[in-house]
Amino acid sequence: MLSEFEIIERYFLKEAGTGVVVGIGDDAAVVDESGLLVVAVDTLVGGVHFPPDSPPRSIGHRALAVNLSDLAAMGAMPSYATLALTLPAADAAWLEEFAAGFFELAARFDVDLIGGDTTRGPLSVTVQVLGRAVDEHVLTRAGGHVGDDVYVTGTLGDGAAAIALHARSTESREAAELFRRFSYPEPRIREGLALRTLASAAIDVSDGLVADLGHLCRQSGCGARIEVERLPLSAELEAAVSGERAVDFALTGGDDYELCFTAPAARAEAVAAVSEDRGVPITRIGALVAGEGVVCYRNGEPMPKALAGYTHF
Ligand code: ADP
Ligand code: MG
Repeated sequence: MLSEFEIIERYFLKEAGTGVVVGIGDDAAVVDESGLLVVAVDTLVGGVHFPPDSPPRSIGHRALAVNLSDLAAMGAMPSYATLALTLPAADAAWLEEFAAGFFELAARFDVDLIGGDTTRGPLSVTVQVLGRAVDEHVLTRAGGHVGDDVYVTGTLGDGAAAIALHARSTESREAAELFRRFSYPEPRIREGLALRTLASAAIDVSDGLVADLGHLCRQSGCGARIEVERLPLSAELEAAVSGERAVDFALTGGDDYELCFTAPAARAEAVAAVSEDRGVPITRIGALVAGEGVVCYRNGEPMPKALAGYTHF
């Protein structure tokens, strides 16, 4: 049985990067920072936020990815993370894979793990990320104006479909790809940084487009209109379920970790250039309107709410 100390030393203690004055191993971490600090924390509970038998590599990736996604939505640059891990048992093979998923993603975005906590109990993973605001400027949910276009990055509905269909990597190519999207969401950090000076407001899609765009609307003091035929759906999602269900997953399914943002119409070309440059689809799906709430339109007609499934929220 590994002790808490052995777990930390074997799996989580890495060489600290520049800026880390005191890293893992002391009572607290110390970093050298100036300027605006952007901080986010999220907990993933086994059986609630991911199936408890999920590949541990994917749990490590997702725990960091969902937090990086929050920094992406702020247009911030991640720099450090802390990790509070509650484990039912000290399983070496599980820890090995979990750490691999976590550190692969951390390395891609130059994030240093600077501390954490390790305890025994029902599986739960809390990651906190710290980042910097470039040029002291961040994106918030509150900056949208009536008339701004509403965009999303990537495709919507894939992660929710993977969970609903109990997709596994061993099934059809489509199911495997949906499962991969759920298991390894891509935080849109570079897109968030590129959109930082173009977008008026942004949020990441963690709970579902309608719910999350609803938060942006409330904080921006307006409503939104979504044209459902514009929703970006992956070929895999369209192959796996009916058109109606695909739209439902895209509107209400969580776990996409794409960015939903708004921008004045005059910035449309600059937004398209970011998409081109990054090789990531960025799709205009509607606009901010006067009033409140998110209303979905199909072929110019408002959709009944029950059809859009968002009565769940
Ligand atoms: P304390 O009792 O002072 O809280 P701990 O024994 O909990 O100290 O942790 C010892 C060191 O290991 C601390 O620097 C802490 O930040 C770090 N640490 C503990 N668990 C983790 C973890 N899962 N990932 C990264 N660092 C961790
Ligand atoms: Mg501790």
